[in-house]
Amino acid sequence: MKKAIVLCSESGFLAYLKGISKGSECFFVENIIDNKKGILREFIYEKEILLAVSWREIDAWISEFKANGIKRIRIVPVFVMQYGIDIFQDEVMYEKYTKSIILDQNVNLTYLETHVTDICNLKCRGCMHFSNLATEANEPDVVSFEKDMKRLSEMFHHIFIIRLLGGEPLLSKHLEEYIKIVRKYFPLSELRIVTNGLLIPKMSVQRSQVVRDNYVAMDVSPYPPTIDKIDDIMAFLDEYEIPYGTIADKLTSFRKSISLKSTNEVEKSMEICGSKHCHFLRNGYIAKCPLAFFIEEFNQRYDVNIPSTERFNIYEDLDASDLKKKLDGASELCKYCPDHAEFIEWKVTHNDAERSDWLVEKL
Ligand code: SF4
Ligand code: SF4
Repeated sequence: MKKAIVLCSESGFLAYLKGISKGSECFFVENIIDNKKGILREFIYEKEILLAVSWREIDAWISEFKANGIKRIRIVPVFVMQYGIDIFQDEVMYEKYTKSIILDQNVNLTYLETHVTDICNLKCRGCMHFSNLATEANEPDVVSFEKDMKRLSEMFHHIFIIRLLGGEPLLSKHLEEYIKIVRKYFPLSELRIVTNGLLIPKMSVQRSQVVRDNYVAMDVSPYPPTIDKIDDIMAFLDEYEIPYGTIADKLTSFRKSISLKSTNEVEKSMEICGSKHCHFLRNGYIAKCPLAFFIEEFNQRYDVNIPSTERFNIYEDLDASDLKKKLDGASELCKYCPDHAEFIEWKVTHNDAERSDWLVEKL
């Protein structure tokens, strides 16, 4: 009989875990953000801690556990709920679908993303991945992709969430292979495909099956053409039983993401940056965010010279803990990111992208 304290802040996840825990001696804690210190003091020495929260809360929780002298926890991935997996069925299921973490020994990465293609069928103005400028798919070589994932799995005990994106990932010819490779090396990571959704209703049965077999979920970005087709998109995902995250309200503007000045206030830039956690893998290198790789596209296209030097070769003799600190801190490039928010109206580009779509300076 399993004895655990389950920390959970999302009502659907909590209800699911409560539902499958009958017969176990689990104590459930909701609203944990408010109660956490008292809860930890009361229970930690009696029961195993199961942490069932969004990846966005993981770092705060790990800091809290360490501050309270907790040495070991188990993570319950969200896909357990999304795919109806019964972790309390028996010891085998519990071991297979929860991830043990020894907090003062294991180095974990919170977030990783990577392109499975650079091209996109939407070509939004001001795309932060510059996919509206991309002419080549640049799909990762499958053998090298596997080598990179293997190497990362040797460096990091766990990566809480891995997102495959682009460009439009559903345009990738090798998407199924990338999915299987990520799952092979990171069996308990959240694995998501970030898509504009327009190609979802055209997904093959075989592709849908690979998505399901590997416990993948979809993150559908709410661009105007996506929202126009949202009923078809959701109907397809429901029919093929593919989980998806909450689809936000229609996105009508993009924030400009580049500045030519190198004197922006980094703290302010980071505060408004939506990519500060988006550690990005590309061809054997990892960087704090995708801009470190794709700024070159912008430099070449618009004849500017914003430096991009902070990429780390994952095959060099790197200490994983040092690498994580570097990735989590500010990079040199952050000085080139706007320290105030300026927006442009969302629209599709047709070979008419301009550098002012990204730049806050008026030239
Ligand atoms: S859909 Fe996403 S990847 Fe494609 S151009 Fe728009 S912002 Fe970029
Ligand atoms: S360089 Fe820094 S501020 Fe700019 S997008 Fe990347 S993480 Fe954000």
